[in-house]
Amino acid sequence: MEAKTIGFIGLGIMGAPMSGHLMKAGHKVIAYDVVPAAIERVVGMGATAGASPQAVAAQSDVVISMVPDSPDVEKVYLAEDGVLAGAKPGTLLLDMSTISPVTAQKVAEEAAKKGCPMLDAPVSGGEVGAKEATLSIMVGGDPQVFEQAVPILEVMGKPTYCGASGAGQTVKACNQIQVAMNFIGMAEALVLGAKAGVDPEIIIKVLSAGYAQTRVMDVRGPRALQGDYAPGFKARFHYKDLNIIRETARAYGASLPASALAHELFTAMIANGWGELDHSAVVKVIEKLSNAEVPVKR
Ligand code: NAD
Repeated sequence: MEAKTIGFIGLGIMGAPMSGHLMKAGHKVIAYDVVPAAIERVVGMGATAGASPQAVAAQSDVVISMVPDSPDVEKVYLAEDGVLAGAKPGTLLLDMSTISPVTAQKVAEEAAKKGCPMLDAPVSGGEVGAKEATLSIMVGGDPQVFEQAVPILEVMGKPTYCGASGAGQTVKACNQIQVAMNFIGMAEALVLGAKAGVDPEIIIKVLSAGYAQTRVMDVRGPRALQGDYAPGFKARFHYKDLNIIRETARAYGASLPASALAHELFTAMIANGWGELDHSAVVKVIEKLSNAEVPVKR
């Protein structure tokens, strides 16, 4: 693929390694973040520093954003010094943050008014997926624009076309519903076992061998038994995603009672000061409700 100039906005846990892969593939990266130290880190990897989203966009063929939430994406693209104030018509815009599908559609409509094609392209696979370029990338927007974006997205992972603008974010919301449910199921299974005096290792072994098997329990069950809730994906981010799920359900008139319950349980996690822990720490919420502790084996 011909080398491009790519503006990369949002250089955190995910954005920094993703921009690194783009540079390794031969592209020129112009990097911007609200935190100067985050820019310096990526400049140390070979990028050029950008002064604002507007300035980054003015110099780029493609702009990628990887910021926390919907208001951040609105600011990055729509503010006075935002991407749309600087981008030339035809500049390809890829928002890879996890945000509301409704906001994704709104920003893409504004981009279209400036002649800039835009895709929503959120990811799953976490920090490991970002570092190893194995992210699953869920893409919404015009299918022809998707074809144009594939060679760039493939540098960071595996893109799947999901449908019209916002569909990538909708699929990501579906992903986060299922992951939350699996963690809550794991938490309730382990706490019931603790209350009834069954060895939690037996529970994990047996559930993993049958219809109840989930990757969530395979990866995080054994760590929960060691009391290890160091974050892969922070609970406060999953709480943000459950807010997105509920907003989206309201916008489309979907009734999602289990997601509402998951939202409450994650609210309790934040209220107890566990937002910086891994989302598997929902085990601690169920332990608290049941006044029980899953025995820790170190
Ligand atoms: P992070 O907090 O590590 O990084 C976000 C970066 O964006 C920070 O450096 C922050 O300073 C910057 N930023 C915030 N507002 C900005 C603005 N207005 N302009 C420019 N920069 C701004 O977060 P992360 O873990 O890299 O997550 C980014 C997105 O990816 C989130 O939407 C998250 O839900 C999603 N995601 C994360 C993971 C994961 O495992 N970490 C997995 C899948 C999806």
